[in-house]
Amino acid sequence: MFEVFFTKEQRSLQREAQDLVKWVPRQLILDMDDEKITFPKEWIEESGKRNLLAVRVPKQYGGRGLKWVDEFVIMNEVTKLGVPLACVFGITSLVSEVLSTFGTEAQNEKYLRPLVAGKVWAGEALTEPRGGSDFFGATTNARKEGRNYVLSGQKRFIVGAEGADFFIVYAVTNPGAGRDSLSTFIVERDMGVEVKHVYGLMGSRGTGTGRIIFREVRVPEENLLGKENEGAKIFYKMMVPERMAGAVGGSRAILEIAARYANRRKAFGQTIRNYEAVSFRIAECVTKLDAVSALAYAVARTIDEGVGTAGYQRRLVSELKKLATQTQWEVANEAMQILGGIGYTRVFPIERAVRETRLLQIWTGTNDIQNLIIQHEYYKEILAQVSEDRNIEADVTLTEEEAEEEKVYE
Ligand SMILES: Cc1cc2nc3c(=O)[nH]c(=O)nc-3n(C[C@H](O)[C@H](O)[C@H](O)COP(=O)(O)OP(=O)(O)OC[C@H]3O[C@@H](n4cnc5c(N)ncnc54)[C@H](O)[C@@H]3O)c2cc1C
Repeated sequence: MFEVFFTKEQRSLQREAQDLVKWVPRQLILDMDDEKITFPKEWIEESGKRNLLAVRVPKQYGGRGLKWVDEFVIMNEVTKLGVPLACVFGITSLVSEVLSTFGTEAQNEKYLRPLVAGKVWAGEALTEPRGGSDFFGATTNARKEGRNYVLSGQKRFIVGAEGADFFIVYAVTNPGAGRDSLSTFIVERDMGVEVKHVYGLMGSRGTGTGRIIFREVRVPEENLLGKENEGAKIFYKMMVPERMAGAVGGSRAILEIAARYANRRKAFGQTIRNYEAVSFRIAECVTKLDAVSALAYAVARTIDEGVGTAGYQRRLVSELKKLATQTQWEVANEAMQILGGIGYTRVFPIERAVRETRLLQIWTGTNDIQNLIIQHEYYKEILAQVSEDRNIEADVTLTEEEAEEEKVYE
């Protein structure tokens, strides 16, 4: 994010976020990484108290009615705390997005308002043991019985499986109908959700990630979110905040640790920043982080102002998710390389960043899935448009007829 563009209000928001970040006890981060803490409830409560969770939610439900560019100002600070705390913070934002868009007045009063205030926390349950990428192949199902839906099936890798008060769950209500087969439900933990297993995660620990099981869980019909069989609409809306991964504050902080180290550490009688192998690594990283920030800013404004088609927006959001997470992984690795052996220890927080950052390219739709979306939307755009621009393809030595003769495609 380019701070030079910040408005006065955004600078003040940044200071609020910085204060929140300073509030976080160091021990909380360490205990989460060591899995001594299952879920950081106090973090959510404090963020909610300061009204920094889900700032894009309308004021009528306790949010601040702000925009994506504002949320990035906050996320750039929050990501300095590492992936797990940023994740539980961010999930409130994305669940709020779908509740405020599709929820009824009663649902919003019951679930959205306390969520924004940090009094409750929600998980999102999409991925199933049989696969996460093939979302529309979900098998968790919901059958209607009187005024209830009865849910059966399971979801895995759910952040907050241990810790969430309710879940946004996708289940099949119209089998065999592809994208029209799913409905979305607000399922309270106390309705009978069972937590089966917490994994030995490589990093990003302390967020209560686990498997949730529905054995004939009865969900009242008023907890259907949106319309029956229109889960796809909610999914597509949810994927925008889910993938707005352009906040690179954490990676900037990691890079700065490496740059300061290189400025002091000596080898062969010189500080190592004098070696191009080191200083060019820093140059590459900071260039890429700035490129991501510029893209993030552009994408945020595109979404805020509703520019372009839904497909165009989807492409940009996927590009940002891919580039930001790829860059964050590269920066963490390069930082570790610059620190040498000591980077591979717990003397510096780089090793934690490497473990945590690896996840970013896998979750919220793997980067392969982002590539699928990007190329799909790009082809749709270029093949649909009749270009009125200069025809660059004709700027060759051959005449148009001669060139045509040589252009053999099959
Ligand atoms: C710590 C953690 C937290 C998570 N939190 C949540 C959460 O809160 N809620 C939630 O719902 N999910 C969550 N996830 C799940 C995550 O989103 C999925 O793991 C991810 O979407 C990939 O699904 P999968 O693991 O089933 O892999 P698969 O879908 O089995 O994919 C395996 C590999 O095949 C590739 N692949 C699959 N299909 C294609 C294709 N068509 N083209 C090209 N490549 C393809 C994938 O890119 C991947 O490399 C979390 C995961 C982890 C590890």
